[in-house]
Formats: sequence, C-alpha cells, structure tokens
Amino acid sequence: MPELPEVETVRRAIAPVLEGARLESVEIRDPRLTRPFDPSIVAHELVGERVAEVGRRGKYLIVRFDSGRALLIHLRMTGSLRNAPNGTPADDPHTRAVLTLDNGSDVTYRDVRRFGTWELLEESDVRPYIDARLGPEPLGPLSAAKLGQRLAGRRAPLKSALLDQRTLAGLGNIYVDEALWYAQLHPLRPAGGLDGEELARLHRSIRRVLRTGIERQGSTLRDYALPDGAYGSMQDEFRAYGRGGEPCDRCGTPLERIVVGGRTTTFCPHCQLL
Ligand code: ZN
Repeated sequence: MPELPEVETVRRAIAPVLEGARLESVEIRDPRLTRPFDPSIVAHELVGERVAEVGRRGKYLIVRFDSGRALLIHLRMTGSLRNAPNGTPADDPHTRAVLTLDNGSDVTYRDVRRFGTWELLEESDVRPYIDARLGPEPLGPLSAAKLGQRLAGRRAPLKSALLDQRTLAGLGNIYVDEALWYAQLHPLRPAGGLDGEELARLHRSIRRVLRTGIERQGSTLRDYALPDGAYGSMQDEFRAYGRGGEPCDRCGTPLERIVVGGRTTTFCPHCQLL
C-alpha cells in the first residue's frame, strides 16, 4: 500500500503534467471511486477545471483547481496514476478513470483492488476534511517534543499509535516497522511510555526512513509504480519490513514476526527492547 514516500513520489512525477492543464474530458469508469456520488456527475463537475497545484497531505494527493475546489485522491491498496502521453492504452481492464488534458496528455487512474477514492470538495471543506483525519506531517516542522505530545497518555502499542493517521500523517506498515527498527523500540511498547531520549530516536528514525523512501522513489511491492511505469527501489533498503527470519543487520539475531492490531510486524527481539 502506498505510504507517504510513494504518494509523494507520485505527486512529484504527476504535478508537472497536471499543473496548468485544463481537464478537457473526464471519464470515471468505476462507481466505487466516487461513492456515494454518481461518477458521471463528478466527472461532469471536473470538466473545464484548470489544475492550479498538486499537493499532498499524508497519503492524500490534493489536486487543487483555479476555482478553489480540490480533488482528493487516496490510492489505498493498489491505486496508481499513470501519465499516458501517447493516449490511453485501451486494453487495460484496471483503468478506472481517464483525464484528458488540454496539453495533449492523458492521466489515467489504475486500481486492481478498487479501494481507492476520489472526493471532490469545495474550497471551504478541504481544510476541515483533512484536519478531522490527519495529524501533522512527519517531514514538516515537527519536533520530538511535539511527537511526544501526540503519543502522551496513550496505552496503545507504539506500532498501532503510529499507524493511526491522526497521530502523524502518512505512515503505514512499511515505514513504521523500519522506523521502529532504527529507533530500537519494540512495536508493543506502550505509545505514551517513551522517555525523552527514546522520543528523540523515534523522531529521527521516522524522518530518516521517510526521506530515504522519497529519495528511492518509494518501494515497489506488487502494484506500486511511478506514473511513467518505473519502479522505486526502497525495498532494497528494508531493515525489518518483510524480513522475518532473516538476521538483523545490527546484531545478527533472526528478526521475528508478530501481529499487532491485525498487521504483520517484523522486529528484532534482541535490539528492539520491550
Ligand atoms: Zn538486532
């Protein structure tokens, strides 16, 4: 599932294609994308809009238009945006939407599992929508002390608290496992129980793995790809995620797999202390 670095990579690739372009035609093939709204009505509303900016908050892409309205795209499990400069390939059964731009490009939305969402919001609704769902950006002006405030008093496992998008925006299973490995913190530690030094390590580790993820253009597992079809390489950097049974890169102890809050979690039982 795309997390902050994957979504940011998509944003950086697709922004130059979309920004300044006017939507000449919009085809939404899958009603699940715009549920509960009728896809043909949403498509009709989008036609004629000119893209002012493509932003991101957490795992949401925010396509802002000159009108002030915004299309919030969440890729969920397997959504991806593709730039099709030579027209849309007709034979891809997983294409769920096609944007035809006045600059001659097409942007297609592809989604195998169909959990992705498109929500068209009025200008005044964007901020409340985001604020109700997302905590601060981990790569924004976030201090270790502020992170401590987000976790204070919480008895949930650290892993679960970090997966909660209201704690910090944009982390998912991959980058939480990676950050906890670097921070040498056990995923089942009570979230509110970290001391100042541990918070500083966690803060540093979260930012480190997200920055590396962006530099590597995300991790390609299953369906994630860049808009031009290229793949990210963050999967080559994994220290914990998906490596259960392999030796820890720090101490050689085999990494263990447990389930936390329904999510498979990999950690080192020797150097990530409970
Ligand atoms: Zn270890």
